[in-house]
Amino acid sequence: MMYPRTAPALSPWGAPFQQRGASLLIDPLLNKGTAFTDRERDALGLRGLLPPRVFTMEEQVQRSVAAVRRIPEPLEKYIYLTNLQNRNEVLFYRLILDYVDEMVPLIYTPTVGQACLEYGSIFRRSRGMFITLKERGRIAEILRQWPHEGARLIVVTDGERILGLGDLGALGMGIPIGKLSLYTACAGLHPYYTLPITLDVGTDNKALLDGPMYIGLRERRARGAVFDAFIEEFVTAVENVFPQALVQWEDFGNTNAFRLLNRYRKRLPSFNDDIQGTAAVALAGLLAALRLTGGTLREQRLLFLGAGEAGTGIADLFVSAACAQGMAEADARRQCWFVDSKGLVVKSRVAELAEHKLPYAHDHAFIPTLHDAVQQIRPTALIGVSGTPATFTREVVGLMAALNRQPVIFALSNPTSKAECTAEQAYAWSENRAIFASGSPFPPVQINGQQRVPGQGNNIYIFPGVGLGVLASESREVTDSMFLAAAQTLASLVEPADLAVGRIFPSLTRIRDVSLQIATAVAKVAYENGLARRSRPGDIVEDIRGCMFQPVYRDYV
Ligand code: NAD
Repeated sequence: MMYPRTAPALSPWGAPFQQRGASLLIDPLLNKGTAFTDRERDALGLRGLLPPRVFTMEEQVQRSVAAVRRIPEPLEKYIYLTNLQNRNEVLFYRLILDYVDEMVPLIYTPTVGQACLEYGSIFRRSRGMFITLKERGRIAEILRQWPHEGARLIVVTDGERILGLGDLGALGMGIPIGKLSLYTACAGLHPYYTLPITLDVGTDNKALLDGPMYIGLRERRARGAVFDAFIEEFVTAVENVFPQALVQWEDFGNTNAFRLLNRYRKRLPSFNDDIQGTAAVALAGLLAALRLTGGTLREQRLLFLGAGEAGTGIADLFVSAACAQGMAEADARRQCWFVDSKGLVVKSRVAELAEHKLPYAHDHAFIPTLHDAVQQIRPTALIGVSGTPATFTREVVGLMAALNRQPVIFALSNPTSKAECTAEQAYAWSENRAIFASGSPFPPVQINGQQRVPGQGNNIYIFPGVGLGVLASESREVTDSMFLAAAQTLASLVEPADLAVGRIFPSLTRIRDVSLQIATAVAKVAYENGLARRSRPGDIVEDIRGCMFQPVYRDYV
């Protein structure tokens, strides 16, 4: 056994080393390619199997970054990086970390959206597990086929709501893979312990069902009792096969996402990043924006375009944060307003509203359009989570600027093509007064001789740190107060220099430290609330730092 179960919780490095020869070159966790030293080549039976020149990791990184830059298309760059990940994971993560601003958009949004759409044709080598409805009754047996001992971190999707792209069925696998890569890159979760899973319950995407090359089950999506029983079997199997695992529900459609989160969150450590991670990053953005405007949470009025997982998740966490500052829950909820695809969410619509919208169905006349809703509700912040582009029009942004000295405008829909407005539009249409953040990255904007750096309200700032904190403390639950702690920590890490250029999130180049600080805050919540299944270490930061995977080569001999 290469990585013993008894190895330090999250770090199998240092385990007895047994592999030799060509098998080392095809194991992506062990392969160093041309960086195997002369001593290693002789001692491990590698002499002759590699070109003679020994390269340093830095040289390998330079070669890889040059290769990525030579490739014109983002999707082709994604394929290159995937191949690198499948060949040499340590080098892959070194490259991602050294060039984080350049690489993250290639391995995650926006490129991953395109990668999912094309997943069937760019598929080269399997990563993670596909479990289909046909395997009902055998899920535990299938999980036991996973070749690594003891998965600790599972990201699972059923592909129903991939980014803002809708039902992509089994093609959604790019998302759990990408998210887990970010866990490793950003928070140092060891890749050995990560497991991406797609639960293939069919798809309602007609183009996929009719397409001859679709890689998933060619049947309509299962719903109701069949779906629920399948998920129940999956959860039970995870509890039995991977009892130490944290489960992240990912990109489920919103009819299932809320139910699954609430049904299972106390049974096993689990959370939904689309709901809770988004909520924390958006709240952090809002808290950081308040550092610019000087306002308080109590004074904010939020208007959301889109009342799904992201929107109501953000509102729920905003309510928790406002309550923590002494506001009554009912008052805090009245600060949050929603416009969905039909118009303003109000009491008169209660009969047709999904459950998660009900707490925000206020007593107010129905308003059909966003523009009129802005005019009447007079929000301080406008938050786009609708998946519909070009909905924050010149008129809407202009109105926000007329109502607020520094209007907060978040266009969070992903990928870039779905953003409610661009960074440039937000600045230009608000006389450069908007505090803007988006879901996918936008480049800096030069306006009136001034550079504005749009913040990327990407969940990447939150979920890796939360996951690390939960796993390091062996928390039995992932609570809302952990996300609140994560949001507050993130907002506190934004530096004056960031705020000076309008950026309300820290630079991605600091992501490892950000994740460490968030993990520490989350672990503290676990220790203080009696949720941790291990005793509190003397120094939580150092304890967690010691668990983090570092993308450096070990000496094998
Ligand atoms: P969802 O399907 O749960 O909700 C979408 C909501 O938008 C629904 O309430 C729907 O009624 C509403 N809607 C659709 N068309 C609309 C229109 N024309 N006008 C007004 N409302 C409309 O999806 P979700 O999980 O809430 O995600 C929504 C978007 O937010 C996606 O594009 C997703 O990529 C993005 N998102 C971004 C982040 C981030 O940047 N951190 C995180 C999560 C989700």
